[in-house]
Amino acid sequence: MVDFEPAPAEKPSSSRTLLIVAVVGCLAVVALLAVCGGGFGYFLYQGKVATDTALDEFQGKLDAKDYASAYALIAPEWQAKQTREEFEELFTMIDDVMGKYKSRSMASVNVNQAPGGSIANATYKVEYEKGSGQLAVVLKESGGRWHVLGYQLNSDNFEKRLKCPSCGFQNQNLGKFCTNCGKPL
Ligand SMILES: [Zn+2]
Repeated sequence: MVDFEPAPAEKPSSSRTLLIVAVVGCLAVVALLAVCGGGFGYFLYQGKVATDTALDEFQGKLDAKDYASAYALIAPEWQAKQTREEFEELFTMIDDVMGKYKSRSMASVNVNQAPGGSIANATYKVEYEKGSGQLAVVLKESGGRWHVLGYQLNSDNFEKRLKCPSCGFQNQNLGKFCTNCGKPL
């Protein structure tokens, strides 16, 4: 019979354990930063590409004066506020005031994850045949597709166009008639 005396377990070195934990901790933090940073960068990149792609498609339909297809690309929230006819009237007027679309360059983009889908805000400098404009768009992602939710185009051309030739009133919104005197713009 052999009495088995277990060898005394090596005393864990608390300093080594701490060191390992510290190293693992550092690695975890580094990994987390990489995931978060990379994830955010990737997300923003995706948002930027998706925004540009969605806007390209939208602009392509407008260029072709295919307003029915352009209207189909906007978010339901916008469709609820503007009929197909009003939409066409608005973009026909933009086309008339600005001329043919030439090019655009992105000035800024900001992508946020929201419960109902991601939202992207982007601004562009846009060149048209008759001048340049600043475009601010809001795009909303739902079901993997991006839809144009908001579209705001500012240009000196509109200021000129919206100044009433009859009474001189500076109208703020695109319309056929002066909101001050009711005469055609
Ligand atoms: Zn007027």
